[in-house]
Amino acid sequence: MSNFDLIKEADQSFVAGTYGRFPVAIEKGNNATCYDFDGKEYIDFSSGIGVNSLGFCDKEWIAAVTAQLNSLQHISNLYYTKPCTDAAKLLCEKTGMKKVFFSNSGAESNEGAIKCARKYSYEKYGDGRSKVITLVNSFHGRTVTTLAATGQDVFHRFFFPFTEGFEFVPANDISELKKALDGTVCAVMVELIQGEGGVMPLDVDYVKELESICNENDIIFIVDEVQTGVGRTGELFAFQHFGISPDIVTTAKGIGGGLPLGCVIFGEKTESVFSAGDHATTFGGNPVATAGAAHILSRMDRAFLDEVRAKGDYMRKRIMRMPHVVGIDGLGLMMGVRLDETVKSADVVKKGIEKGALLLTAKAKVRLLPPLTISYEEIDKGLASMADALSEL
Ligand SMILES: *Cc1c(COP(=O)(O)O)cnc(C)c1O
Repeated sequence: MSNFDLIKEADQSFVAGTYGRFPVAIEKGNNATCYDFDGKEYIDFSSGIGVNSLGFCDKEWIAAVTAQLNSLQHISNLYYTKPCTDAAKLLCEKTGMKKVFFSNSGAESNEGAIKCARKYSYEKYGDGRSKVITLVNSFHGRTVTTLAATGQDVFHRFFFPFTEGFEFVPANDISELKKALDGTVCAVMVELIQGEGGVMPLDVDYVKELESICNENDIIFIVDEVQTGVGRTGELFAFQHFGISPDIVTTAKGIGGGLPLGCVIFGEKTESVFSAGDHATTFGGNPVATAGAAHILSRMDRAFLDEVRAKGDYMRKRIMRMPHVVGIDGLGLMMGVRLDETVKSADVVKKGIEKGALLLTAKAKVRLLPPLTISYEEIDKGLASMADALSEL
């Protein structure tokens, strides 16, 4: 049996079958290029779903992470550590926000945000003001509470009873939002560009009005930047494109650079809501993960973010000339490629693997989330594979 067949067989025997996998096992990689166990090369336009912000095996990131591994890999949150404070300080300085709680994933970050909003409201207004409004077609995670927060029916099966206190309103519709504000609402939580929902950006005017309605009614405005955060859109956080100041921003995926890490970032209104004992996680602020995060954040200066935009523009221009492509949504290096009705996004991804490009879907669109450090040479190679795939469909 080939290496791949052995891995596949062991996976099917011993790993819970929660993922529909493609018939490929990736062995190693460098920046946006990776190889399977037969030595076949692929250009990565997925970053492991937005995680590898500096690509595979970035030398400086490895140095930062291994230096920390060689001194201290973990100590409980009963003690102070430096990497955790370094990462938190950078996040606050670069966003104007006030405090950070470190978690281990996107779903956990959103759990933290929801808990914070509910505590804020309970302390100020008492019982009966705990509802969280989210958007139709949103995605906020896979825990029982974040599934409840996710505005898609397919996620509301099997696992009853879900956490109560969530209501969905259609995106970009202020009057529907206003109708939902019945005095029981403590928070509104949105993705500024819905990722899993199909790379659907919110209108700037809608987002600004949403923010002012939240401010007028003392409702906590939570922005889920698990996918859009950490340079992905050409700003450190997508909210910085919109000229808004959310009360809470959550992130994960790209902040870890490949290690599991999430953040709940609090603004002025929410920075002191949690006190000792209110919220915790054993791995939270892990020194190795946060040393990596501090390195990633220190790399993302204006020039780095401008490069993300330039690469996004470069890719968009070329993708628009490919067969079956009718449009591209998203910002920076978060792209949702709209296709004509003759092709399915899942078939493009399958064909892409054959041609040597790792692509993603988001509903009917082909979603691209390349490493932010991808080179123009890698972009050209990956786009050639993608064009090949599209021309054969
Ligand atoms: C991926 C994602 C999540 C869930 O993150 P996990 O790390 O898988 O728990 C939540 N919100 C958004 C917007 C995401 O893209």
